[in-house]
Amino acid sequence: MEHVTNATPAKFKTLIIGSGFSGLCIGIKLKQSGLDDFVILEKENELGGTWRDNTYPGAECDIPSALYSYSFEHNSEWEFKWSGQAQILKYQQDVATKYDLHRHMKFGQSVIKMVYNESTHQWLITTAEGECYLAQHVVTGVGQLHYPSTPEFNNIKAFKGASFHSARWDHTVDLAGKRVAVIGNAASAVQLIPEVAKVASKVSVFQRSANWVLPKIDRSYARWEQRLSARVPIVTKSYRWVLWVLGECVLLSGIKGNRFIRWGVKKACNWNMRRFIKDDELIAKLTPSYAIGAKRILFSDNYYRALARDNVELHTSAITEFSESGLNCAGLEHKFDVVVFATGFKTNPFFAHIDILGVGGRSIRDAWHDGAQAYLGVATHGFPNLHMLYGPNTNLGHTSALIMLEAQSDYVVRAIKYLDESSTLALDIKLEKELEYNTELQTRFGNMAFSDASNSWYMDGDKVTTNWVGGTREYERRLNQIDWFDYVHMG
Ligand code: NAP
Repeated sequence: MEHVTNATPAKFKTLIIGSGFSGLCIGIKLKQSGLDDFVILEKENELGGTWRDNTYPGAECDIPSALYSYSFEHNSEWEFKWSGQAQILKYQQDVATKYDLHRHMKFGQSVIKMVYNESTHQWLITTAEGECYLAQHVVTGVGQLHYPSTPEFNNIKAFKGASFHSARWDHTVDLAGKRVAVIGNAASAVQLIPEVAKVASKVSVFQRSANWVLPKIDRSYARWEQRLSARVPIVTKSYRWVLWVLGECVLLSGIKGNRFIRWGVKKACNWNMRRFIKDDELIAKLTPSYAIGAKRILFSDNYYRALARDNVELHTSAITEFSESGLNCAGLEHKFDVVVFATGFKTNPFFAHIDILGVGGRSIRDAWHDGAQAYLGVATHGFPNLHMLYGPNTNLGHTSALIMLEAQSDYVVRAIKYLDESSTLALDIKLEKELEYNTELQTRFGNMAFSDASNSWYMDGDKVTTNWVGGTREYERRLNQIDWFDYVHMG
C-alpha cells in the first residue's frame, strides 16, 4: 500500500529504475559522460534483475556469453559458451564494482508512482516504502519479463503440496524422490526439466504448445582459450562478431520468412529431437504447428534427452482443474508432491506496477490502451524525459538484447547533454512522429513470423508490442540519427 512520508524529496538529475543489465548500462554511460548526478532505485536488496530472480536449476543464458555481455566489458573468464545464472550475476556484480555504481544504488525501493510536473518539468517519483524523489530525467530499466505469471487454473488453491513459479524457485523444497509436475515447456522449462529429472522420482511435463528447439552444442572453455581471450582482444572481438552475424543473417532471416533458412532451422530442430525421441506419436506431439521464429526459438542439448528418460512423461491435454493431491487432465487425476509453474511472465501491460502520470495527468495505461508503443522504444508522447530501456518493441528473438540496451543508453546520454546544451528542460516526442513510426512497425510485422503463434508474449492482442522489427544495425543507426526537432522542446 502506498505510504508517503512528508520528507522533502531527494533530488537527482536522473533517476534510474532497476539494477539489471539496463540500469547498470545507463549508470556506466552516465558516469563515463560525467553525468554523475543519478540514483538507481532497486526494489530488491541485490542488483541483477532477471539474473538475480531466476535461480531455478539449470538457469542459463540462451545467447552465448561472448555476445550476451557488454561490448565494452569483455569477460575472458566465462566457463561455458552459454553461461549459467550464477556466473552472469557475478559478471553484473563485478561490472557494478568496477564502475563504482554501488554508491548510486538504493535498494528496497519499489517505484509505484511517477507524476510529471508541467511547471517545473520534473518527475515526482514515489516508492511503496514511502520515499519520494524529484528528477529531471527518469530512465526505466524494469525489464519485460519481470512479474511471474501463474495461470488461474480451476481450484488451484486446493493443492496441498509445494508449488512455485520458475522465477521464484523455492530452494527449501527438496525434489529428491518427489513426483513433480512442470507446467509449461518453453525457455525456462527446457532448462529446468533436465535438472529436475535427475533427482525427482517422476517428472510430468504439461505442454500446451510444442516449441522449436535447436541444439546448443554447449561446451566449457579450455584454460588456454580463456587466456587467449584475455590476451588477444581481436580474437574475442572476432568471435563476438561471428556470433552476431549468425543471429542477424540466419535466425533473423528465418524470422523474416526466408524459406531456405526456415527449412534449415527446422531440419536442425528435427534432428535435435529425433536423436533422442524415437516414438512417432511423441514426435508428432513435440512438433510445433507455428512458423520458426513466431515464438522464441529455444536452444537445448538435453531437453529431448530428458523427455526420453523413463521417469519423465509428456501430457498434451488441457489441465481441467487442480485437486488437493494434484491435478486433472484428460479425465484422469495425476498426483504430485510438487508443481512448478514454468508459465512465463506478465508482459502486458507494460509498467503494470507503476502508475505513470504524464502531461495533463494522463496515465500511461490510458495512453497505451491499444497496446504499448513508443518511438524507437525509448520515448512516448505525453511523457517528457521518460526514457525507456528495453521498452516497447525492443526485444529481440535472434540476438543479444544487450546490443539494444547499449544503443538506448547512448541515446539517453545524448538527450540529456542536448537538453543541457540547449538550455531546455524537457523533450517530448511528437505524437505524429510516434504514430508514423508505429504504423511502419506494424506494417513490417505483417511479413514476419510473430503473428503465426497464439499465446505469444510477443503480442498484445493483434499487435506485436515487445519485439523489434529488424536487425540491430538498423536500430542503432536510427537511434543515432534521431532528429531532436521530432520532439517538442519544453521549459
Ligand atoms: P514463456 O515463454 O512465456 O512460456 C510459458 C510456458 O507456459 C509456455 O510453454 C506456455 O504454453 C505455458 N503456459 C502458459 N500459460 C499456460 C496455461 N494457462 N496452461 C498451460 N500452459 C501454459 O515463459 P518462459 O519459458 O519463462 O520464457 C519467457 C522468456 O524469458 C523467453 O521467451 C526468453 O525470452 C526469456 N528466457 C530467457 C532465458 C535465457 O536463457 N536467456 C531463459 C529463460 C527465459 P504456450 O506455449 O502454449 O503459451
